Amino acid sequence: MDVCNSVDRQKLRRRLLRWYDRNRRDLPWRRNPRNAYHQWLAEIMLQQTQVATVVPYFRRFIKRFPTVRRLADAPLDDVLRLWAGLGYYARARNLHKCARIVAREHGGRFPNTVEGLSALPGIGRYTAGAIASIAFNRRAPILDGNVKRVLSRLFQIESDIRRNETADHLWTLAEAILPRKRCGDFNQSLMELGATLCLPRNPNCPDCPVSGICSAHAAGVVDELPRAGRRPAPKEVQVVVAAVRRNGKFLIRRRKADSLWGGMWELPSIQMNGHKSRKAALVELLSALPSVLPTDSAFDSQTPARPCGRITRRLTHRIMRMSVYLLPSPASSHPLRRCEDFKWIRPTEFDRFAFSTAQRKIIDIVLAKTNEKHERNDDD
Ligand code: SF4
Repeated sequence: MDVCNSVDRQKLRRRLLRWYDRNRRDLPWRRNPRNAYHQWLAEIMLQQTQVATVVPYFRRFIKRFPTVRRLADAPLDDVLRLWAGLGYYARARNLHKCARIVAREHGGRFPNTVEGLSALPGIGRYTAGAIASIAFNRRAPILDGNVKRVLSRLFQIESDIRRNETADHLWTLAEAILPRKRCGDFNQSLMELGATLCLPRNPNCPDCPVSGICSAHAAGVVDELPRAGRRPAPKEVQVVVAAVRRNGKFLIRRRKADSLWGGMWELPSIQMNGHKSRKAALVELLSALPSVLPTDSAFDSQTPARPCGRITRRLTHRIMRMSVYLLPSPASSHPLRRCEDFKWIRPTEFDRFAFSTAQRKIIDIVLAKTNEKHERNDDD
């Protein structure tokens, strides 16, 4: 049985490629399509992130790390700092890990097959297909959110696209429609169509190069597709953040690698899990810090904690409500202790460390409240 049903694949390939040749956007990673490093970097950055957001980050990365070897040689902190603001920080950690494997185990060259690419950290089936087809012209299918939407309309797929069976069917279709030549361009034409014309709402069918062979368009059900079951509502998480200040410096901590925003720096924070009050959460947080505090510091429930402000950060699965407290500590002649994952820094030094967007907002609030200034580094 032909999986493509009534859709004429030859027509589909011809029309999409011709449209792509004339209409593709000029994106920095498209200028050098055979550079697997550029394709890989762009694909990792584009996961869950808009093209317009990615472009300046991509340019900065390529400028700072022109080759995968240069990226591999850089300290993780430099990579996280340059990534700050793009979100989904596990991507940055995997990016660095992957660069090191490519540099050290593959002589600085990316594997040129889907299997070889998929064995690297942070590279799933979609990303492997994109790099293999675009950089190495392999006949490898791709299926991201945009392509799922385009295919579900083109082939009028009525089942829930969040179901595994539907995804399997769409992968089969994505493979069946691939041409023998120009697979990378064909895959990009599908992505481009989804990003520019076949939009989630109000798709521009009159300008679409394949409207004449689109099943959903013919059936008048474009607005109903793709069908998707409801996502669970994001979980609300209450977080308490401590801005501990002593002798003009602030205490920052590196987050555990396997946590949200792992490897990034923060003003120490704790989730409210099971705590009866913010104060109780704050005391627990502070009691875990004595190894870096001077010996005459004793935070307890009597420590005056000044509410400093609140921010809300919406992530895909969580809504983080973060309450910030300022813990002014009297000047002390006792030395501040050193510890690898903690640092005492001056307000002017915040830009030297990688902080999440939420933490950047918190730092701005704290510095405004304490009348401290820090200079934003526009290279970030
Ligand atoms: S005709 Fe409309 S629904 Fe069909 S692929 Fe084109 S833009 Fe999408």
